[in-house]
Amino acid sequence: MTFADLGLSPELLKAVEDAGYTTPTAIQAQAIPTVLMMRDLIGIAQTGTGKTASFVLPMIDVMAAGRRRALMPRSLILEPTRELAAQVAENFEKYGKNHDLKMALLIGGVQMGDQLKALSEGVDVLIATPGRLMDLFERGKIMLNGCELLVIDEADRMLDMGFIPDIRRVIEKLPRQRQTLLFSATIPYDIGRLADTILRDPVRVSVAPPSAPAESVEHLLYYVEKADKAQLLKHLLSDDTVKNALVFTRTRHGADRIERTLSRAGIRTEAIHGDKSQGSRERALAAFKKGTIRVLVATDIAARGLDIVELSHVFNYDMPNEPEAYVHRIGRTARAGLSGVAVSFCGFEERPLLADIERLIRKHLTVVQDNPYASPAKPGLPTRLEEGRQEPRPRPYMITVDASFLSAMRSPAAGAPPSRASRHAGDEARPTAGAGGRTVQHRDAARPSRAFRK
Ligand code: AMP
Repeated sequence: MTFADLGLSPELLKAVEDAGYTTPTAIQAQAIPTVLMMRDLIGIAQTGTGKTASFVLPMIDVMAAGRRRALMPRSLILEPTRELAAQVAENFEKYGKNHDLKMALLIGGVQMGDQLKALSEGVDVLIATPGRLMDLFERGKIMLNGCELLVIDEADRMLDMGFIPDIRRVIEKLPRQRQTLLFSATIPYDIGRLADTILRDPVRVSVAPPSAPAESVEHLLYYVEKADKAQLLKHLLSDDTVKNALVFTRTRHGADRIERTLSRAGIRTEAIHGDKSQGSRERALAAFKKGTIRVLVATDIAARGLDIVELSHVFNYDMPNEPEAYVHRIGRTARAGLSGVAVSFCGFEERPLLADIERLIRKHLTVVQDNPYASPAKPGLPTRLEEGRQEPRPRPYMITVDASFLSAMRSPAAGAPPSRASRHAGDEARPTAGAGGRTVQHRDAARPSRAFRK
């Protein structure tokens, strides 16, 4: 299948070709014709699947017909974070370069002057975070009754961030006659209810579930207590096979602390989280992409959907509270056919979170024995083996459709890397003396690095 088969205009096909894309991804192949037919849509897909272009491309052609009016955007895209909103705007610029469309970006943390000017002149596409949009609406700076097309992106993340009431308020201001597209990696109950009330006879399309991390990711696990995590991180970063690393923490404070510790150790590091200004987040991200800084420390929300090509390592400095977040986090590495390493630091209190992750991804992370900061053995604490856990089971609400597509997208025909994960398939388990956990005996002699030796 090619993009030309999907019914897009020649101008758009040219822009897609210029962007270097030849084959639509699974979500694009399913969603683009649906949107062009003006149907409502539920798209179950995570970032990394080509989801953004699956709505941006057809929207450009839909919006090409029709005229702008002052203060009344013709379409609205709601994003949970500023970074995601900015990335969607970049997509519009890239694919819309052969069209005369006007776009405005309404996000917190940036000066509003230019955005207000654009709005007053009329925009075809408004990309916004819910809070900033409601703020402007209440100040009478914007009217939403000309909005014929609404996109709610990353709906499950909107739910986590408490945006659903805001979204409902926004929708009250929109005309009833409109097209609505909702994208979400999972459909928790509240999102299902929202979809039921705002979508009309939607077409449902879905791609690989979030329980399927890339095959080429190596999942390493260090048992380490909180007090030693910073030392361990510094130790591992001293290895030059770590070309660049995204480090996830649970809190903003934690992110700042790590940033300070690493910077003091001479490791070029920046932190991004909700307390940072938009400008500093953008600068940090740009520096990371360029390679000027080697480590980016982020909270889950700030890092949501970041599109970073060629990321060698992801560190879970804190284990994520939700197992799905593990898959989202490590989805940043091993993209586009590259291999990557996901390194998780797990303290005693975090072991239940580890169990949830392993159940979700249906494999055990590989415990690294060569760990100078290993948790001391605690008498009476069950090891993973003694806990008698059953083999990881799939979670019942996961929807599995077309799971092969992600690996196809990540493994270009030429030079697909050998799957590291598959090497673990025959690994044996045996209890360890020290770390109090199950250790996986790794049979592969070629270790990725000094610091990652087991
Ligand atoms: P997204 O899921 O929208 O975050 O996109 C993930 C990455 O896939 C981005 O770097 C896109 O530029 C890239 N991408 C989008 N569509 C395609 C395509 N058809 N072929 C290859 N890469 C794509």
